[in-house]
Parts: sequence; structure tokens; C-alpha cells
Amino acid sequence: MEKKIQRNDPCWCGSEKKYKKCHSDFDTKLKQLKMDGYPIPPRRIIKTPDQINGIRKSCQLTKSILDDLNDLIKPGITSNEINQYVHRKTLENNAIPAPLDYKGFPKSICTSINEVVCHGIPSERVLKEGDIVNVDVTCILDGYYGDSCRMYPVGKISKNAEKLVDVTKQCLEEAIKAIKPFGSLNIIGETITRIAKKNGYGVVHMFGGHGVGNEFHEEPFIYHSIQKTKQMICAPGMIFTIEPMINEGTGDCEILDDDWTAVTLDHSLSAQWEHTVCIHEDRVEILT
Ligand SMILES: [Zn+2]
Repeated sequence: MEKKIQRNDPCWCGSEKKYKKCHSDFDTKLKQLKMDGYPIPPRRIIKTPDQINGIRKSCQLTKSILDDLNDLIKPGITSNEINQYVHRKTLENNAIPAPLDYKGFPKSICTSINEVVCHGIPSERVLKEGDIVNVDVTCILDGYYGDSCRMYPVGKISKNAEKLVDVTKQCLEEAIKAIKPFGSLNIIGETITRIAKKNGYGVVHMFGGHGVGNEFHEEPFIYHSIQKTKQMICAPGMIFTIEPMINEGTGDCEILDDDWTAVTLDHSLSAQWEHTVCIHEDRVEILT
């Protein structure tokens, strides 16, 4: 049997502080929330300050690569050329592109064009004026993962496409603002669904966000849709992605024969924005 931690013992988190001055109040709060019926995060997904610093650096590299793509993505470029740029830039910064060879994925990024919801594979396809493309980048820097994606308009895009891209970004931003330390993850799906519905859009249910940082995909699963069951508490030290995929039509998707590319079932346009966020005692930090 494990001995119960005493107030003057070193904290379980590895901070080398006394338990009473470190995670004692944290554990008391979570114990209460657990009695109220909320799943609480396992200690293995609570990051240490050193891990948070490492993950932040990796996220900043991901962010800077996505920034570069604003100038790179123009009519006439192929998604392979975007892949090559990101691959080279990642290696130049002593990092590794996480998607490459992940469960057999053949490229270093995902490029999801128009009706592609996510996990599109870069190819010789030439982007043309009016397309919208999502580029999803995850760097591994010093062993830490930083995950983010954005939408890029290719030249001038239609008013409809622009609205979908903007509303999807708003879904992400409002969901981040709605999160409260020691609140539940339910608020994320509720916020995203409210905004999408108001605009007549569908929320994709087949994919969600995820814990990230020490691994590419960690607990918990982050739902972008409304959940009737109580979702996990957002505790300080947790790092996860929020990455709503919003369709002009319904939220239904199918996976193509390549076993990766997810497309809208009704062939309507789809958009996605993603950040990695870190929960602190008093705020939520956007790492990307
Ligand atoms: Zn502690």
C-alpha cells in the first residue's frame, strides 16, 4: 500500500517544495470536484515548470513556421512545396516534424484543402486562386511537442469561404476565453457549438483536440461538440490542443481510401484553427 503524502513531505510534482506549500490545495480542490462527479486529471498529465518551458519553446517554433507561410502560400504553389519548406525549416531549428512516419503518415505536415476536414497529405496538387488550405504543424524540440494549425486563403477567396474561416477562428478564440482553471472541459464544446450553430455551420464530431507536450497525443480527448457527461477538470499544469473543425454543411465526415484524408460527407467547405494552451492557476496561456 502507498503511504499517504504528509504535509512536510516533498511534493509529488517534483518541485522539491514541501507538499503543504505546493500541490496540497490543488489536491484538495480536485478531491472536492471528484466528489461532485467530475473526472480529474491523472498526475502524469500535470506538467512540471521545466516541461512547460520546454513545450513553450517548441510551440514558439511551430508558431514562427506558421507565420512564415503567410507569405509563402500563393496561387501556383503545391502542397508538397509547403511540406518541403516546413520540413527544412523544422530541421534548421534542430527540431523534428512530428507527423512524419507517425503511424505511417508519409509527410511532415497535413495540408487540408477546401472540403478536406483534416489529415490531408501534401501532394503535387497546385493550389489555385480561391482555395482555402489548412496547414497543421507539430514540431518536436528537445523532446517536447508544439502543435498548431491555421487557415490560409489562396489569393482572393469567396465571401462564403472567408466567413467560414473567420467564424472557425472565432470558435477557437472564444473557447479559449471560456476555459476556467478548475472548470470542466465541457465549456469548450458548448462554446464552439453555440457559435457554429448561430452561423448555420456543422461541428465535426469525428476528431477532437488532445493533451500534448511530452507526447504527440496524450489524455484527455477534447470534444468540440456538446457532451452530456461531465468532462475532465482543467487543472493548472495541463497542456492540450483545441482545434475545432467547422463545416459549411453538416459536421459529418468520411475518410478516403488513403486511410488519412478526412473530407466532408456533403462536399461542403471545411475550416480548422488550432492552438496548444497551458492552464495556469489564474489564466490560460496560448503557447502557439
Ligand atoms: Zn507540487
